[in-house]
Amino acid sequence: MFTLEGKTILVTGGTRGIGRAIVEAVLAAGGRVAFTYRGSQELAETLVAQAPERLRSYQADVTDAKRAEAIVNDILQVWKRLDGLVNNAGITQDNLLLRMTEAQWDAVLNTNLKGPFLYTKAVLKPMLAQRSGSIVNISSIVGLQGNPGQANYAAAKAGLIAFTRSVAREIGSRNIRVNAIAPGFIRTDMTANLPAEEWRKTIPLGRLGEPQEVAALCAFLLSDQAAYITGQVFVIDGGMI
Ligand code: NAD
Repeated sequence: MFTLEGKTILVTGGTRGIGRAIVEAVLAAGGRVAFTYRGSQELAETLVAQAPERLRSYQADVTDAKRAEAIVNDILQVWKRLDGLVNNAGITQDNLLLRMTEAQWDAVLNTNLKGPFLYTKAVLKPMLAQRSGSIVNISSIVGLQGNPGQANYAAAKAGLIAFTRSVAREIGSRNIRVNAIAPGFIRTDMTANLPAEEWRKTIPLGRLGEPQEVAALCAFLLSDQAAYITGQVFVIDGGMI
């Protein structure tokens, strides 16, 4: 069994869906978690109340570079170390390409690709000083195979995979690992309005995935038990692709 005891992990977008499941999985594995949220202060406070000594929340938009640095500095002041980062926050703004606006393109690329760049950059200094760290980027199978109506999202998620592989090569010698998870169809707010029944037919396991199933893989990748794994993309999609 793996453990995250003594580890401090930062998760972006931690109040719901996959991010929340990751926060809870890290907590269950014995770690401390700092998580960001965009608007849902009440949800964040309720979550922190579950284990106030091992949870901290920060209001932040992932596209704000200064805020990312301030959050990392605050975590270091309080908990003295930072062992892991999960770039989870993400959005969709779907449209067929001919109808896709520049604003839709920018919003998705900024949140899903620039956000991970900013947060990865912010955690690198303390991880380099510690000579250890694990970064997990939540990509998507859409980044591997594309999806009509999601050219912006696919480009961002494919970019995140290339980013993962590049940074893994850049900082592997410093014992900092970088991996990506590419989930398929997971039951969260993001997929709530999609025709789940239709999609189900294309999934060999015959069901949607649960956020907790993605979180278990993520928690393992954050742990020292995954110490020899870097630069990889882990598909978790019930056999879909
Ligand atoms: P969700 O909509 O339930 O959660 C997304 C989270 O990101 C929320 O907490 C939201 O507040 C946060 N967020 C969005 N924009 C933000 C911003 N600018 N700044 C800070 N936080 C922001 O969706 P989810 O399904 O839990 O998605 C989590 C991640 O998993 C996303 O990166 C998504 O692309 C990815 N993913 C989801 C699925 C799926 O089927 N649900 C499949 C593949 C990948």
